[in-house]
Amino acid sequence: MQIEVKAAVSHAPGEPARIETLRLAAPGPGEVQVRLQAAGLCHSDLMVLEGGFPEVDGGRPFRYPTVLGHEGAGVVESCGPGVSGFEPGDPVLLFAAPHCGECPLCRSGRTNVCTHTFVHLQNPAARFSRNGEPVSQFCGLGTFAERTVVPAELLVRIRPEMPADRACYIGCGVTTGVGAAVFSAEVRAGSSVAVFGLGGVGLNVIQGARLAGATTIIGIDRNPAREAIARKLGATHFLLATPNSNPVEAVQALTAGGADYSFECVGNLQLIRQALECTHFAWGLSLIVGAAPAGKEVATLPFNLMMGRRWGGSWLGGARPRDLGKLIDWYLEGQLNLDDLITHRFRLDEINRGFELMKSGESIRSVLTL
Ligand SMILES: [Zn+2]
Ligand SMILES: [Zn+2]
Repeated sequence: MQIEVKAAVSHAPGEPARIETLRLAAPGPGEVQVRLQAAGLCHSDLMVLEGGFPEVDGGRPFRYPTVLGHEGAGVVESCGPGVSGFEPGDPVLLFAAPHCGECPLCRSGRTNVCTHTFVHLQNPAARFSRNGEPVSQFCGLGTFAERTVVPAELLVRIRPEMPADRACYIGCGVTTGVGAAVFSAEVRAGSSVAVFGLGGVGLNVIQGARLAGATTIIGIDRNPAREAIARKLGATHFLLATPNSNPVEAVQALTAGGADYSFECVGNLQLIRQALECTHFAWGLSLIVGAAPAGKEVATLPFNLMMGRRWGGSWLGGARPRDLGKLIDWYLEGQLNLDDLITHRFRLDEINRGFELMKSGESIRSVLTL
């Protein structure tokens, strides 16, 4: 049976999100309907609104209209045929890492980069509709809605004591940041780390570096207000980026020749280059974490790579669904700080205010309470 739900929909690039009443299909085989309680606003949602989302699906343009939102937590409302492992009432978080379980990458354990991920991200089997026309679900989730229907493999059951308005943030921002340091780079104890861009993701890279035991953690941002929170989360140094500053030299000066690891968390081509070049030659590892605009290319002198600097990237923190439980444990044990990062809370119909604060840099993470 179809039901009606309120959702935030992006219709075309450059237009604000609209709150609309959509039809939501009943969960089909292998699918689960989730009653959402909280959803985080991530920069990728803003990219969809502004029309700059990268062509991830073989270069096909992004498909509008779409229900925005890819961080969410709530409870299982009902399960379609053949779903095992979930029951109505289970607290869950949604994780935008669709995986088939059968392709060579899934079989090798790298479900986070399953070949089918990007097909699912565009979600051809849209479960939302309006006036009979399909409305897709961003990242296959569509969490800015009262309820959504998703494949069961996109759900992670969470400890009941984990509050939904913190759990939702783990679905993308926290995992992307903490995971980039802990799972993708496997930062080693005693090492030095430089983090470019201290938004919701970069600040979590700092936490991840601290949890991994890094002893020099340099945060770089153009917003001086980010210094205090960066230091609270584990940064040992803060560099204020200005149009004329040279973070490469500054990082090398603080790390005896270059950082062991660096992370670019903005998606800015110049910063991606600086992040590579500030690492130590012979072993420095620089990971691209921020999503760069569609169609753009990065450059550096080949010599930088010949001399042993390594360039890589991290998608969703290299995390598998089972890794998310670890992050929840860290939060509940007081090792992972989420409370200071969730700076604003809004109702669904206030969503565009949340995007304004994201653009102005006033918020770190805004959470919708649904
Ligand atoms: Zn995100
Ligand atoms: Zn797969």
